[in-house]
Amino acid sequence: MDLQHTLDDIRDAVRPYLGEGKVARYIPALASADPKKFAIAAVTVDGEQFVSGDADHRFSLQSISKVFTLTLALNAVGADLWKRVGREPSGSPFNSLVQLEYEHGIPRNPLINAGALVVTDAIVSRCGGTLSPIETILGFIRDRAGNDAIAVDEEIARSEAETGFRNAAMGNFIKSFKNLDNDVATVLDVYFRQCSIAVTCAELSRSMVYLANGGVDPVSGERVVAAERARRINAIMLTCGHYDASGDFAYRVGLPGKSGVSGGIAAVVPGKMAVAVYSPGLNERGNSLVGTLALEMFAARTGNSVF
Ligand code: GLN
Repeated sequence: MDLQHTLDDIRDAVRPYLGEGKVARYIPALASADPKKFAIAAVTVDGEQFVSGDADHRFSLQSISKVFTLTLALNAVGADLWKRVGREPSGSPFNSLVQLEYEHGIPRNPLINAGALVVTDAIVSRCGGTLSPIETILGFIRDRAGNDAIAVDEEIARSEAETGFRNAAMGNFIKSFKNLDNDVATVLDVYFRQCSIAVTCAELSRSMVYLANGGVDPVSGERVVAAERARRINAIMLTCGHYDASGDFAYRVGLPGKSGVSGGIAAVVPGKMAVAVYSPGLNERGNSLVGTLALEMFAARTGNSVF
């Protein structure tokens, strides 16, 4: 099947739904996003790129950054990371605090906010060289996306820092269980900045394709992670990548995927390609409403699903 044709068809098919869902407002800088924007992009394991819709529009990675920091932290500390963060779906919203108390400060998984703070803390501890932690994360994403100009959107980072009371509470709570090694403020600063890294939909698909290709970036040929690690990161995305809607995403789409509250979703078709979508209107679980619909159409029309 002609992939470009499929993406263009999906862009046309979702048009009547654009504007549905609610743009995130709890981070004030995200509230001005245009709910009519839509983009879809794919990169195959042969390195071929396909895009449709508002392909040049930049948006912040938000929680999608958690996949990249998980990759970096696993490469840095290996399986020891799992002593500090679990691998089970939380069944709770992305910013929930409730499980942390009775699970003694060990977050359920690395793709909810609590788990991502622990992962970022592990990266902060490992960065002693010339690069700061955020430069390390940014460098990784630039390499994956093949664009050295990718940067932190400073306005969004500031807006997150000014209103991130819940993340601050979470960081302090985890610290009280001694599961953060660094200052809470340092970890939060890196976390807010990693969430604010701005990409296009095309760059997002390109930056995820190593997870479709056994851990090797097919464009540069670089091994990013061991094959078995790529497989496991995909398993965590499938089970935890959409918070308390992970089961529904698996049911409707059936691909490892990670959403972000700015409206992006990156999905992996193991052995074939990475697909990214962007549309800022969110469903009640905080995942892109039209983006999920587009991926559901993609899986149904192409038969690309792990099930
Ligand atoms: N930066 C956002 C937050 O911490 C990320 C959450 C998300 O994308 N779901 O609240």
